[in-house]
Amino acid sequence: MREKLRQLQKVASQLEPSAEQRQALLERVGDYAQNFLGGLPGAQTFVPDQGLSAGLERTFDEQPVPLEHLLDELGSSVDAPGINPASGGHLGYIPGGGIFPAALGDFLADVTNRYSGVSFASPGAVRMEKALVDWMAGLVGYAQGAGGDLTSGGSIANLTGLVTAREAREIRAREIPESPLYLTEQVHHCVDKALRVGGMSECPRRIVPMDARFRMDASALERMVRDDRARGLNPWLVVASAGTTDTGAIDPLPEIAEIVRREHLWLHLDAAYGGFFVLCDEGKAVLQALNEADSIVMDPHKGLFLPYGSGAVLVKDVHQLARAHSYEANYMQDARAAAGDYSPADLSAELSRPFRGMRLWLPLKLFGLAPFRAALAEKMWLARYFHQRISELPGFEVGPAPDLSVVTYRYLPGSGDVNEFNRRLLKAVLDDGKVFISSTLLAGRFTLRLAVLHFRTHLETVDYLIDLLEQSARKLELR
Ligand SMILES: *Cc1c(COP(=O)(O)O)cnc(C)c1O
Repeated sequence: MREKLRQLQKVASQLEPSAEQRQALLERVGDYAQNFLGGLPGAQTFVPDQGLSAGLERTFDEQPVPLEHLLDELGSSVDAPGINPASGGHLGYIPGGGIFPAALGDFLADVTNRYSGVSFASPGAVRMEKALVDWMAGLVGYAQGAGGDLTSGGSIANLTGLVTAREAREIRAREIPESPLYLTEQVHHCVDKALRVGGMSECPRRIVPMDARFRMDASALERMVRDDRARGLNPWLVVASAGTTDTGAIDPLPEIAEIVRREHLWLHLDAAYGGFFVLCDEGKAVLQALNEADSIVMDPHKGLFLPYGSGAVLVKDVHQLARAHSYEANYMQDARAAAGDYSPADLSAELSRPFRGMRLWLPLKLFGLAPFRAALAEKMWLARYFHQRISELPGFEVGPAPDLSVVTYRYLPGSGDVNEFNRRLLKAVLDDGKVFISSTLLAGRFTLRLAVLHFRTHLETVDYLIDLLEQSARKLELR
């Protein structure tokens, strides 16, 4: 048996490169990263696939492949086609981020592989994540007693918040058909997913009308809740948005909160996109009464410019979050903390999880908060600037002045189908590829969107898009 073990060890030990080998690997990967980042200013933001990713090797052999070869493959098959989310030219959907020290934070978290699920295993990692959650809870104005969890993104954070609401309001299967919930058409589709996954899809769904700026009509909400009560139903949940994905609209939280309080409803707030704008004065001015929500979702991979993989859920009363996610397991008996002293595993559906705090903690500390505040204010001003410039361009029609950093607009051609024209205008921008924009349907109209949230998006980027739109529209008019 000893001989067998020696043989296995010999091969298995290849999983542990030597110090020199590690150094060489680090240098090659570092070179790739530096080249990638160095090339960004001239790079395309959108490249149609055209088979570029087809070369990706699909076999996994027994023998090792040299790193150079793998990095070449990464460059040509993965980092070439599609949308480049590292580019400041990403002005579509809701752009992500990718600030460099977050990658270093991930690197360190992965090398040390601290287990941040329970305090017993890593009191430091758990404390760091708690400090980050407490900081965010402070940002939205929550008092002592709030808590939360760092998640993989906004969709899972919404699921966590909605399941917490369900448990807090004790909505059991039997009560579901009589327990209506209230939201607008502009709520993110992940809420729909979360309701389904969380067993709440049979709750009657009341679609609350919106005002002309796609914000929830609070008086309509109040009427609908009263009507449902009069019918003997059990209204229990309002899902509001602070920054919708489509138009960046913020629902009127002070008015909604009053109704929610009076009617004893749970207010869940999806601020995945908009929440971190509270860091700048311009955002703070429009994000009022966030602390009235019982649960809030914020995405650091949006508003804090982190790479994908970072969401957060905050709950005003952390015990509610814990109640919805409590567990018992005999094999965990050594690791359970005193009641009330929660670890992430007590507050989420996950047990083993990445040490997510590092990617957030390192950049926040290393840079300090000032550049984050400035970047968020810059995004809001860029959207305002774009809105103003487009409204001055002949032929263009703009949507409402942006609440945050999304602007909707379209071109009204002298003749012909408006939707078709704007579809072609979008195609012209994507064919150019230097910047990437996306479209939506608003009241059946094909509408173009600008979403500014990338930390690499600056005045030159927006000027480039404006010129491109102007020239492309002129060319299309002549055809
Ligand atoms: C992006 C977004 C989500 C979904 O979050 P993911 O991090 O993509 O899972 C939910 N709600 C809003 C408003 C968003 O902008």
